[in-house]
Amino acid sequence: MLVGGIEAGGTKFVCAVGDTSGKVVDKICFPTRDPETTLDEVQHFFAKYEISAIGVGSFGPIDLRRDSNTYGTILNTPKTKWKHYDILGRLERDFSVPVFITTDVNAACLGEYKYGAGKDVNSCLYITIGTGIGAGFVHDGIIFQGKNHPEMGHIFVPQHKDDDFKGVCPYHGNCLEGLASGPAIEQRYGKKGHLLSDDQQVWELEAFYIAQAIVNYTVMLSPERIILGGGVMKQERLYELIRKYFMKQMNEYVHVGNIDEFIVAPKLGDHQGIVGAFGLVDGVD
Ligand code: ADP
Ligand code: ZN
Repeated sequence: MLVGGIEAGGTKFVCAVGDTSGKVVDKICFPTRDPETTLDEVQHFFAKYEISAIGVGSFGPIDLRRDSNTYGTILNTPKTKWKHYDILGRLERDFSVPVFITTDVNAACLGEYKYGAGKDVNSCLYITIGTGIGAGFVHDGIIFQGKNHPEMGHIFVPQHKDDDFKGVCPYHGNCLEGLASGPAIEQRYGKKGHLLSDDQQVWELEAFYIAQAIVNYTVMLSPERIILGGGVMKQERLYELIRKYFMKQMNEYVHVGNIDEFIVAPKLGDHQGIVGAFGLVDGVD
């Protein structure tokens, strides 16, 4: 039985057809435009297939409160055309199959948990460090949620004594996303991250902030594994630096076992979001 997966990103949409073993049969990727045009393209892609359900990992924030009458709509986004857009409603109307929706980073977390770097543990946290910072937590196959989905990129971390950068978060300035996202790096140094590969100080500071966040998430959630993805993590040396700062900052208070198996890279390349979207559908087909 085929299922549909959608990775609804702020800059691009990925749609795929596959199954809940994580197999991808067909896939398409196109730029995100206004909601109706974009969803027309989604409809066109899936029309060729008989799918039994659709899973969606969407950029957010999204209303995921089960009892809300705006469940499945996009909330406060700077992409004004998408604000309050009922993406779930449109998909349900187009396809008349069950549609399951969560955040992009929750879907990525579920993908790695089921099929990738979290396959051998019962709980994992997936953090994306890209244009924004976000994290999802899966425990025993369940995506963690309170009233609505968490916003773990917007935690506050003490600033390094030599860093007086104001931060780029439009809501908080120097929250974690404001200090350590891709745009934060670009604004602090006047260059994009991939052009700063040779500057060790840039990555020491980046690791200092990401490690603090991981200390905070570890003491709050006690995940068995932490998977770090997103564009900024293409600076591969960051994994070792983050492990180093994490050990120093945690100071042996919580024992996490082998650090190389605790803080890891994703195993699914750029596929975790889409197979995680398939994973949302598990149990339907
Ligand atoms: P998004 O978060 O928009 O889905 P990505 O996860 O690809 O997209 O993250 C994009 C961010 O990652 C940009 O700010 C970009 O500058 C940064 N980035 C991409 N490649 C690298 C790299 N090699 N080193 C450092 N930063 C990078
Ligand atoms: Zn913020």
